[in-house]
Amino acid sequence: MAKKLARKASKSNARRASSKTSGSRSPKSGSQKYVYLFGRKTDGNGSMKPLLGGKGANLAEMCRIGLPVPPGFTISTDVCTFYYANKRSYPPALRAQMEAGVASIEQQTGKRFGDLKNPLLVSVRSGARDSMPGMMDTILNLGLNNQTVEALATKTNNPRFAWDCYRRFVQMYGDVVLGVQKRPDEDHEPFETVIERLKHDRYHHDVEDTKLTVDDLKELVKRFKALVKERAGKQFPDSPWDQLMGAVGAVFGSWMNDRAIVYRRKYNIPTEWGTAVNVQAMVYGNTGDQSGSGVAFTRNPANGVKEFYGEFLINAQGEDVVAGVRTPEPVAELKKEMPKAYAELERIRQTLEKHFKDVQDFEFTIEDGVVYMLQTRNGKRTAMAALKFSMDMYKEKLIDWKTAVMRNPADQLDQLLAPVFDTAEVAKAKAIATGLPAGPGAASGQIYLNADRAVVAADRGEKVLLVRVETSPEDLRGMIAAEGILTARGGVSSHAALVARQMGKVCVCGAAAVEVDYQARTVTVDGKTYKEGDWMSIDGTAGKVFAGQVKTAPSEIVAGLIDGNETAKKTEKFKHFQQLMKWCSDASRMSVRTNADTPEQTENAVAFGAVGIGLTRTEHMFFEGDRIDAMREMILAETVEARKAALAKLLPYQREDFAGIFRALKGYPATIRFLDPPLHEFLPHTKEQQEELAKKMGVPAARIQQRVSQLHEFNPMLGFRGCRLGIGYPEISAMQARAVFEAAAEVQKEGIKVRPEIMIPLVGFKKELDLQIDVVHQAAKEVEKEQRVKLNYMVGTMIEVPRGALTADEIAQSAEFFSFGTNDLTQTGLGMSRDDSGSFLPQYQELEIVTKNPFATIDSSGVGQLVAIAVEKGRASRPNIKLGICGEHGGDPASIRFFEKVGLDYVSCSPYRVPVARLAAAQAALQVKGGD
Ligand code: ADP
Ligand code: MG
Ligand code: MG
Repeated sequence: MAKKLARKASKSNARRASSKTSGSRSPKSGSQKYVYLFGRKTDGNGSMKPLLGGKGANLAEMCRIGLPVPPGFTISTDVCTFYYANKRSYPPALRAQMEAGVASIEQQTGKRFGDLKNPLLVSVRSGARDSMPGMMDTILNLGLNNQTVEALATKTNNPRFAWDCYRRFVQMYGDVVLGVQKRPDEDHEPFETVIERLKHDRYHHDVEDTKLTVDDLKELVKRFKALVKERAGKQFPDSPWDQLMGAVGAVFGSWMNDRAIVYRRKYNIPTEWGTAVNVQAMVYGNTGDQSGSGVAFTRNPANGVKEFYGEFLINAQGEDVVAGVRTPEPVAELKKEMPKAYAELERIRQTLEKHFKDVQDFEFTIEDGVVYMLQTRNGKRTAMAALKFSMDMYKEKLIDWKTAVMRNPADQLDQLLAPVFDTAEVAKAKAIATGLPAGPGAASGQIYLNADRAVVAADRGEKVLLVRVETSPEDLRGMIAAEGILTARGGVSSHAALVARQMGKVCVCGAAAVEVDYQARTVTVDGKTYKEGDWMSIDGTAGKVFAGQVKTAPSEIVAGLIDGNETAKKTEKFKHFQQLMKWCSDASRMSVRTNADTPEQTENAVAFGAVGIGLTRTEHMFFEGDRIDAMREMILAETVEARKAALAKLLPYQREDFAGIFRALKGYPATIRFLDPPLHEFLPHTKEQQEELAKKMGVPAARIQQRVSQLHEFNPMLGFRGCRLGIGYPEISAMQARAVFEAAAEVQKEGIKVRPEIMIPLVGFKKELDLQIDVVHQAAKEVEKEQRVKLNYMVGTMIEVPRGALTADEIAQSAEFFSFGTNDLTQTGLGMSRDDSGSFLPQYQELEIVTKNPFATIDSSGVGQLVAIAVEKGRASRPNIKLGICGEHGGDPASIRFFEKVGLDYVSCSPYRVPVARLAAAQAALQVKGGD
C-alpha cells in the first residue's frame, strides 16, 4: 500500500517535471529551470553545450536521433555558477527539480531510487562545455546500501554482480566525494591497497578482480567502509538522496580542483563556464560474459584511417577500460564474441557519423547483449588524422570543402611539418620494443620516469622522453614538457593516448616489453637496463621504441615542398596537405607573407605559399662576418665623412643581400625595414674586443671605450633607435635606400619584377616619416638616373608606438602602407618590456590579470584597439593604404582571427609558420564571414 502511494507520488512528480520543462521557467514557482531531462522525453539538444555541458547536450542529441541511451537528467551549468557565487550552495528550486528528474527516470525504467525490490541505481557524471578528460571523476552505482544491494542481488539473481557494484560504488564515492585518496607518503591508492591485501589474505597471490567471490566482495565493502571511517572521519552515507546530493556537490567542487585549473589554463577555458552534472540510470556491463564496456572511435584518431577503432572489456563497468586494471581487447574482437552487439555497434557508428558529420569518440556498455550509448563527442585527433579525416569526409560528401578547412586545427598543423625518423636510420636501428602507435611523429630524448624530474630536466634545456608504466592526470606537466611519451601499459583509451591525441605529442603506449622501475629510476628492456638521463627514441607512427638517438629527416611535406623530393610528393600526406593549402587560398581574404632576412628563408617561405615578405630586418645582415667591423666603424665614426666611408663598405653587402632576396621572391613584394635597434647592440663591450677593433681601425683603444660609454643608454628600448637613428644620421638611411634600389635595378634587369616597400620604423610623428621619405626619394631618383631604370617602390611605416597609432590619419598622408609591429606596440602599449616580463607575467596569468601571454596572442581589447584605431584613421586619409602585421602575432591563430576582424590585408610570420598562418587566415575568413 505504502509503495503504491509512493509510486503515485513519484508519477505526479514526473508530470510536474514534464509540465515544467515545456517552458524555460515554471509559471507556478517562478523559479528558473535547472534540470533538463533526456530519455523518452528530452528537453535539451546538441547545441546546448554552454548550458548542459558537452556530455549532457550530446546525450540529449543521441536520444533525439533514437540511439539507445539510458534515461537521465542534466543539472545545468547555471547551478555551478550559482554554487560558486553563493558560498557553495544550491538554488532553492534545485532539489524539487531533481526529485522530478529522478521520478522521470523511475517511470521510464520501472525501478525506484532506494527501493527494496527493484532499486534504481544512477551514475553521476560531470560534463563541462569542452570535455576535460580525467579532470572530474564519475560515480557509478549510486543508490546502493546494505538493503538495496540485497534487493539488487535478489532481483537479478546475481549476488556477485550486486556486490561487485556495491564495492565499486563505495570505492568511487569514497575517493571522489569523501576524499579518501593517496597520501604523498603512499605508493598506491588506499582502496587498491585494501584490495591487494584481501587478495593476499585469501588467495596468497594476485587474482583477477573478476575472480573475487560474493563473500570476498562483501568483505571488501566492509573493509572499504572502515577505511572511509578512518580516513574521512565519517560514516559512509546510506541514504540514496544523501549520496546523490554529496556526489553532485563533489562534481561542482571539482571544477576548482588544481588539476582542473591547470588544464583550463593550458587550454584557455574560462573559469566562468562551469560544469554541468548528469544523473543517469545505470546500465550494467558487469553482469556476466554477455556484458561489457568499451570506448570507440568511428575512425582511427591517430592516423586517420577509416576503420572501427576502439577497445572493450567483457564483464566490466566503464571505468575499467580506462583504468588499465585489465587489458582491453580491440573492438573488432566483439564480432566473434557478440556478433549481434557488434552489428548494432556498427550501425551506431554509421548513424553517429551521418548525424554529427564528424568523427565521434563514444562510450558504450553492453548489458546482457544489449548495447547502450553513454557518451559521444567529436573525437580528439592528431594533426595527421585531422587532415585525413577532412579530406576523406569531403570525398564521402559528408562535409563541404569549407568545413574540411575548419576541421584542421591551425595550432596543431605544425605537427605535420615536424621531422620524422630517417627511413635509412630506422632500418639500421633495431627496435627494442613495440607498442601502440598513439601519437605519430618522431621523438628522441633523455628518459625520465616522473613528471617533476621531466619538467626540471626540460627547464635545463634537455630533450625529455617521459617513460611511465601508465600516465595519469598528475603527469600532465611532465607530458607537456616532454618531446614524447612512452608507456608500458594502456591501450587506445589510456590517458597517455588521449593526451597524445589532444596535444599532438609523439606517443607510444602499451609497450609491454618495457619494464619500469620507479624506485630504481631505471627502465629495463629485454635484460638491458637504461637509467634516467639515457637516450631513447620513439616512433609514434609505427609504435616502435629504440635505444639511443635515431637520426631524423624532414617530414614528407617539408621534403616535398622545400627539397623537391619526388617520393615525398607522392605520399598521401603531401597530397592532402597541398589540397588543404589550396582551399586555404580560396577561402582567405588576407594573404600571408613571411618575415625573412635571407634568400634561403625567403625561398622556403615562398615554397610554403608566402606571397611576399612582410619584414626584412636589415640589421641582421650587419652581424655576419666582417660586416660587423664596418658597422662598428660607422657607429664609432666622429665625422660625417668617416661615417660615410664606413657606410660605403657596408653598401655592397646590403645590395647583394637584397638582390638575393628579390630573386627568391620572384616578383612578390618585400617590405624592408631600415635600421632599427639601438646602436649599442652592435658595439664591442669587452676590453679585448675593444682593443682588437682599435687596432683594426688604427685608433687608441681609449677612444673606443669613451664612445661606447657615450652611447650607453638607461633604457635602450625607448632610446636612440628606430627612425631616430635615420634622422640623426640621414646618411645611414641614404645608404640603405641606395642598396635597395641598386639591387632592385640589378634584378629588374634580369627580367624579374621587383617591388620593394621601404619601411621606416618606430614612427610616432608624421614629420619623422617625412624626413626619411625625402632621403629615400632622393636615393631612388639618383639610382633611376644612374641605372636608367624605372623603379616601382613604396614607402611606409611601422606602427609600433601608441602615438603612431593614434595619429595614423596624419601619418597616412605620407605613408603608403602601415605594417603593425605588434611586438613593440605591445611593449609600448602595455608599458611592459617583453624581455623582463618573465618575472611577473606568469603570476599575472595565474591571477588571470591577463588570460594569455600578450606577446604570443594579441591583447585584443587593449593593444588591439590601437591597431583598430590606426586601421580606421589610416584608411580615412588614404583609402587604399596597404595594411599588414609583422609582429610575432602574425603566426598566432587567435591573433590572426583578430586581424581578420579589423580588416588587415596580410599577416606576416616566420617561414615555417606560413602554413599555420595560411590555415588560420582561411579559418578566420570563413568564421568572420559566417558571423561567428
Ligand atoms: P569521463 O568524462 O571521465 O569519460 P564518464 O561520465 O563518461 O566519465 O563516465 C565514465 C564511464 O563510466 C563511462 O564511459 C561509462 O562506461 C561509465 N558510465 C557512466 N554512466 C554510466 C551509466 N549510466 N551506466 C553504465 N555505465 C556508466
Ligand atoms: Mg566518458
Ligand atoms: Mg620594433
